[in-house]
Amino acid sequence: MKVEAVRGMTDILPEEAVLWQYVEAEIREAVAIYGYREIRTPIVERAELFARGVGETTDIVHKEMYVFPDKKGQMLALRPEATASVVRAYIEHGLYAKGGVAKLYYLGPMFRYEKPQKGRKRQFHQYGVEALGSLDPALDAEVIDLAWYIMERLGLRREGLFLRLNSIGCPEDRPRFREALREYFLPHREELCPDCKRRLEENPLRILDCKVPTCREVAAGAPRSLDHLCSGCREHFERLLGYLDALGLAHELDPKLVRGLDYYTRTVFELASRDLGAQDALLGGGRYDGLAEALGGPPTPGVGFAGGLERLILVLGEREPPDKCFRLITGPTVYLLPVGEGEVTEALRILAQLRRAGIPADMDYAGRSLRKRLQVASQLGARYALFFGEEERARGAAKVRDLGTGHEEYVPLGELVSYLRGRSRRR
Ligand code: AMP
Repeated sequence: MKVEAVRGMTDILPEEAVLWQYVEAEIREAVAIYGYREIRTPIVERAELFARGVGETTDIVHKEMYVFPDKKGQMLALRPEATASVVRAYIEHGLYAKGGVAKLYYLGPMFRYEKPQKGRKRQFHQYGVEALGSLDPALDAEVIDLAWYIMERLGLRREGLFLRLNSIGCPEDRPRFREALREYFLPHREELCPDCKRRLEENPLRILDCKVPTCREVAAGAPRSLDHLCSGCREHFERLLGYLDALGLAHELDPKLVRGLDYYTRTVFELASRDLGAQDALLGGGRYDGLAEALGGPPTPGVGFAGGLERLILVLGEREPPDKCFRLITGPTVYLLPVGEGEVTEALRILAQLRRAGIPADMDYAGRSLRKRLQVASQLGARYALFFGEEERARGAAKVRDLGTGHEEYVPLGELVSYLRGRSRRR
């Protein structure tokens, strides 16, 4: 019986991987320009980190997290997101002691047991930034500007994208807002899905996030978090709006945007694409001023976002691949053709020598005929075929054929590297 990949966990094949490499390189360069440095945290964490960080009642933790005991019975989880991990590492390594704002970014696989569909996988990849240590709304603006900058670098036109924005206030505002929501939803209890009936008791904010059509209908008239902000949160939001205007970053206020993670405070946002259908969010983020404290660290405000690489690839895959993509494909420049079995040892030596000199080189290992091997060399886009047989051995040379012009000459083995380098410079 064939062993297949796990449902919702996808192979990225070489043809596609080129686009991934391009997107990842663009993201790394973009975030570096904004002053973010990479942090790599483990894929496996204590399950408790996400229960405390993301929230016990969120779908991500409650329904979708891969949780398992290790051999000692400790409950572990495959990370469903990375903000909690980054903040854990920030506390664990005392990064706050350096003062100022810590600007960190990450890129890697995340795991959620969701129903797989277009743009939604069980193993998916996120890139994200976290800026820790400042309450300044200018930092919220910078993070949002960075999200746009990444899209611009990838050539995603602004017209196809839009920013959803909301403020969900601080923990002081939350009880009043929660009460207002409960009061509003209670008379509609019977119209809500079973999950939302539970949410009504546990955390009515999550009802605003529900995708079930009847729940959405009811939620349409729900109270808005923006009407329940304290003066500090209102001022923060207004200053953010001012900065976004100054930066020319358009946004749509979305009172139902609460995001599926409990750690958010104040600013929440999503950058979405009009071309993506139901799973339209390219990235989502916001402030999480209470997260560090909830994880046992010193009170440290933070703001960031996480975006899905799969969705970027989906949007980009429909366009002409950018030139930069092709530069990542390294076919062989030189294709080696040992003539006769006795010459394989020397051919391996020549290959190793060329490769160490940084010249992409390859040969056939499938026992093909000489004619067939020449065809393969052309198919792979090689510029030179390099023959090595009895005659060449006697001369201490290799016969180099320029596959473009057909020109052939014998080149002493010791001069191969400089010969090939010199010619590629002349072209
Ligand atoms: P979240 O961590 O839920 O705020 O999601 C942030 C971004 O990650 C979303 O906007 C998506 O682009 C991406 N994302 C989240 N879940 C998935 C998934 N299951 N499959 C693919 N991408 C995802």
